[in-house]
Amino acid sequence: MSGRGTALRTAGALAAAAAVGHAGPAVLGRGSWRRHAVPGLLGVGAPGGVALTFDDGPHPEGTPAVRRALDALGVRATFFVLGSQVRRHPGAVASLLADGHEVALHGFEHRNHLARTAPALTADLRRARAAVLADAVAADVGQEPDEVARWLRFTRPPYGAVSGGTLWAAHRLGLRPVLWTAWGRDWLARTPEQVAATVLADLLRDAPGPAGGGGTVLLHDSDCTSVRGSWRATAAALPRIVEAVRERGWEVRRLAEHLDRARPSSAPAGDGAGSPSRGGSDR
Ligand SMILES: [Zn+2]
Repeated sequence: MSGRGTALRTAGALAAAAAVGHAGPAVLGRGSWRRHAVPGLLGVGAPGGVALTFDDGPHPEGTPAVRRALDALGVRATFFVLGSQVRRHPGAVASLLADGHEVALHGFEHRNHLARTAPALTADLRRARAAVLADAVAADVGQEPDEVARWLRFTRPPYGAVSGGTLWAAHRLGLRPVLWTAWGRDWLARTPEQVAATVLADLLRDAPGPAGGGGTVLLHDSDCTSVRGSWRATAAALPRIVEAVRERGWEVRRLAEHLDRARPSSAPAGDGAGSPSRGGSDR
């Protein structure tokens, strides 16, 4: 992408992103102090590994592009899907599960939790979970709905904006809220090199030693709240990111494996998600 049209689209998208709150992660997602203050919420996992997570999908082009890149690298990741996007793109959740990826909930609508009530957030998460289960069942992934529901262990509020209502709603559904320790700022107009460099700088800032790792990376397989086509740079950055992670002796894990190794009994109790002992590692 280049030229004046792109610049205008980018400027417009940036303005739109700012308007809907993409400044939120800039405040809530950075700062090593947060890693020490709320490691569980941030998704600090066991040393020796890194979890790759993708928000805002599924997307008809972005999600397959990211899936292809991950498959070529031989790694599995976690996708925080939007229920509204799942409804628009039937079969996408089933494809992710078939590839061995983990599916988690970003919500049904991409709205800032700070402006919503706890009952509204609970209803939103329930609607998102229903959309995911319906897609998995319709595509016949070979699992019963309650079994698929047990895979849905994690939730991440849009913009990383956590309210009391976020925590209450997550608890009601037996979901664990998880943010991130590193990001690629890939909702902006960036090159694959920039996305990878930002991710790696964050990972190394928090865990510079050989026994480091433990980071959770925020990326996006969809441009539904980002600069148009932003997923292209994200997908193209993955080989650089995974190669650099492996060079440090770390492995790439799904979030369930990543967090279970760090805190084996960390999942909350609730009315919906079932056994915390089951995760993405066994499918
Ligand atoms: Zn999002």
